[in-house]
Amino acid sequence: MRLPKTHIYLIILLGAAFALLYLNQYTEPSKKSDEPPSPKLDSIAVKIQKASENNLETLKHTITAGDSLASIFKKYGYDPRDLYLLTQSEFGTALKSVYPKQELSFLERDSELIQVKYSPNPLQSYIFEKDGDNFRAESITFHPDRFLERKHGVIKNSLFLASQSLGLSDNLIMRFAQIFQWDVDFVLDIRPGDEFFVVFESLYLNGVKVGDGEILAATFVNQGRTFEALAYATLDDRLNYFSPAGKNMRKAFLRAPLEFSRISSNFNPRRRHPLFKTVIPHRGIDYAAPRGTPVLASGDGKVITASRTKANGKFIVISHGEQFVTKYLHLSNFANRIKKGKRVKQGQTIGYVGSTGYATGPHLHYEFLVNGVHRNPRTVQLPKAASIPENQLENFLYETERNRMFLASHISKNRDP
Ligand SMILES: [Zn+2]
Repeated sequence: MRLPKTHIYLIILLGAAFALLYLNQYTEPSKKSDEPPSPKLDSIAVKIQKASENNLETLKHTITAGDSLASIFKKYGYDPRDLYLLTQSEFGTALKSVYPKQELSFLERDSELIQVKYSPNPLQSYIFEKDGDNFRAESITFHPDRFLERKHGVIKNSLFLASQSLGLSDNLIMRFAQIFQWDVDFVLDIRPGDEFFVVFESLYLNGVKVGDGEILAATFVNQGRTFEALAYATLDDRLNYFSPAGKNMRKAFLRAPLEFSRISSNFNPRRRHPLFKTVIPHRGIDYAAPRGTPVLASGDGKVITASRTKANGKFIVISHGEQFVTKYLHLSNFANRIKKGKRVKQGQTIGYVGSTGYATGPHLHYEFLVNGVHRNPRTVQLPKAASIPENQLENFLYETERNRMFLASHISKNRDP
C-alpha cells in the first residue's frame, strides 16, 4: 500500500511533536524557568524540515507473470537511464530475468531512486545503491539454520495427494519420486496402502521456514516391496542416492528416452508394418509425442552415428561401453553440437521428435541392443549405475549412519504403536 504523501507528512509531524513532548517531560525535569519559551517550537520546525529533506520512501513490488524490470520501471515512472546503469553494475545480470513471486524493493529520496533491493529467493539478496552516476552492487547470501525433519505418509490415491495432506512441498515430493523412479512407476505401480518415510532438511531463517534442503534418507514401500535410499556425495561432488548396501538407486539407462510421452506401439518382432503391410519385425518401441519433444540420451555414452538415411530419417546411435547400444530414429533435428564422436550424459537432450524417414507421424523409434541383439527397452533388465566403490563403503556407512538411524527409528515408531 502506498500512503499519500500528505498522510506521511502528518504522521512524521505528529511523531516528532510527540517525541519532543516525551523528551521534555522525562529528560529535562530540572528545566529552568528563565529559559526562553521558544526553542520547543523551533525544534519542531527543524524536525519537519529534516524529515522532508530525508524524505525516504520504500516501495515493495512482488513480481507477477509478464513483469520485466523494464515494465516495472515504467510502471513506477523511474528513469530508463537508471535501469541501464543497474543492469551494467556488478550483479546487474541477476536483474535480467525476474520470476513471479520474487521481491523487489525501491528506496526513494524525494521521489528519486537511490536504492534497489532484489531477492530472487529468501536466501539471496542483491542491493544496488546509487552512487553518483553508478550503482554500487552488493550480494548478500543468508545461511539458513538446517533442521532434520521426518514425515510418514500412507497413500490412498496418489503420492502427491498423500504428501500434500502432510504439508510437503511439490518440489520435495518430485525429488522423492525421482529417487525411486528407477524401481517404481509412480503412475502405474502405486497401490492404496503404499507407504513412504522421508528424512529431509528444513531451512529456517530467523525462525521462519524458507524452504526444503536435501532429502537425506527415504524409504518407499510399494506393493509390499521396500526400497531404501541414502544420500551420499560421491567424488564428483554430486549428491547421489544409494541403497544401504551401497548400490546406486539410479540405473545406467532411462527406461524411456522421453519425458511426458505415451507409447503407441510396443516391441513386436512380428508386427505388420503400417506402410508396407508386410511382416517387418519391429525391433524397438515407438513413442508417439509431439514434433519437437526433446529426445534424451538414455545413458552416458558416445555418439557413434548422427546422420540421415531414407528409412531412418535423421537418427542417432549411441554406444555405452562395450555391451550396450541405443538408437533414436525419425528425428526432426539433432540437438546443438550433437555429432559423431560427441560424449553425452544420461538425460541430456540429443535431438527432437519428428517424422523423417519412413514414419506415418511424429514419433520416436527407440532401440536397445545388448551385445548386438535387440531387446525390448520396456522390459529388459537395466544395469545399475556405479555403486559405492569397495574402498569407500566404510566411509559411506559412517557418513550416512545418522540419517539411517533417524529414519529407522521413525519407521519402527510408526510400525509398533
Ligand atoms: Zn518404430
